[in-house]
Amino acid sequence: MKILKTDVGRHSPLDDDNVVHRVYRTAQVLNVLDALARLLVHKIDGSGQVFAVGIVPPSLTQASARIIISENSDVTEAAKNHARHVLQGLHAARKLVKQELKGGDSPPPPLWNRISGFIPTDITDPSLHKLAEIETVVVRYSWLKMCKRFRKANRHTAFFTVYDAILAHNAEDAALKSLEAQYGWPQADDFREEFVFLGQVLRELDKALQQPLSDEQIGEVQSDKQIGWVRSALADVHVSSKTLRARMPKVSDMCAAYHADLLARSNAQGKAKADFAQDIDFNHWIDKVLSTYTDFRQLRRIIGSPTLDAVVTEEIEITSVVQSPAEAFVFVTVDNLRDALGTNLGVDDDDLSDFLRKRFQMDERVKVRGCIHCECAVLAELNSIRRMGDAIISYVGVSKPSCSVSSEYFATYRKVTQQDMQTTRGTHDQVYPWRCLSRTTLPIGRSARSCRTCCDPSSWPRL
Ligand SMILES: [Zn+2]
Repeated sequence: MKILKTDVGRHSPLDDDNVVHRVYRTAQVLNVLDALARLLVHKIDGSGQVFAVGIVPPSLTQASARIIISENSDVTEAAKNHARHVLQGLHAARKLVKQELKGGDSPPPPLWNRISGFIPTDITDPSLHKLAEIETVVVRYSWLKMCKRFRKANRHTAFFTVYDAILAHNAEDAALKSLEAQYGWPQADDFREEFVFLGQVLRELDKALQQPLSDEQIGEVQSDKQIGWVRSALADVHVSSKTLRARMPKVSDMCAAYHADLLARSNAQGKAKADFAQDIDFNHWIDKVLSTYTDFRQLRRIIGSPTLDAVVTEEIEITSVVQSPAEAFVFVTVDNLRDALGTNLGVDDDDLSDFLRKRFQMDERVKVRGCIHCECAVLAELNSIRRMGDAIISYVGVSKPSCSVSSEYFATYRKVTQQDMQTTRGTHDQVYPWRCLSRTTLPIGRSARSCRTCCDPSSWPRL
């Protein structure tokens, strides 16, 4: 039975499976692809980096695993090198673990039993040392993005404001009294102890996670020691926030309510309005702060997974996919503008003509905007490999949810080809300028046909 929705021309190690393990193994690959796509993000300028990643397992004709990477602009050498370095590092760690298991009469305990939170780089255990080395590389690469996530919209300031106010525990504080009445908070000692610790480790992270002055400094100013502080603080924030949420599931709501109250009182007293939003989701902020740490935890599962062992090889071939759409134009005239807006518009032709002249500089031929979105570019590459007869894994890892048009594009692909190809993160249902890949004879589904409004109808993809 086939697994992981592989579409197989030649035999792949992933073909051997049974139904019992299918869902679990599917989730393993999906999570790894998802984490890898996010861990490739390292720039903070412009409109935001987005990555899509596919993996092609080794086959009879291809000894190395292939990683297909696409970005919302050209794929940087840094991203390609990082993907190769991290995956090969994890493969090397897996080899070490396998050697340990053959290590005579007293092999060490399983790797996962030896991990307890932060792993220092000077640890003598060879497998753990390797893991710490790889995580150091991951944190250094993601540094700028981590700094941005921590301080985005000043949520860290909001948290520390609430934290300090709660620990001050002013008996006259009306907002605190109201929270105590509603939630019994913060009287519970075990909760208070965990909350105090979370605040301390977040402050340590704030101190250690200093943003360099320029992009060039990245990798130079972050010493292994500084990265060690950040890794250690992240491990503590992870454990502490998990424990706190388990003890008091509504802790984030309570902090948000208290913060909103502080803000309202501050405004009522005529103080300057704070520059952060009132309803802050502190759980979401902490999840974002931890994302590099948690994504690496997902990725390192490669070490212990027989499924992923069949996919990740000692040498990794990286293919970057950059697709530029052919130039396309649409004609925007007074007549088709009136058709689009409806007949009872109450605006005469001269005004519409004037609007078009100002908007499009008197040219009725308007260039279609947009680029080929990265998950669609990876889909096309995987499809081409499948048509050549090699096995593929039918998931595309993405660092952000897809736009609605890309999501429809995947749906159309599934319908037309009967191949169950998916992205890992669903869709956020918003529309951005979007272009098709190439000319095609693909029968077009109802939903995809609507894209004719923004794309040259002759430029549909060949899939
Ligand atoms: Zn898209």
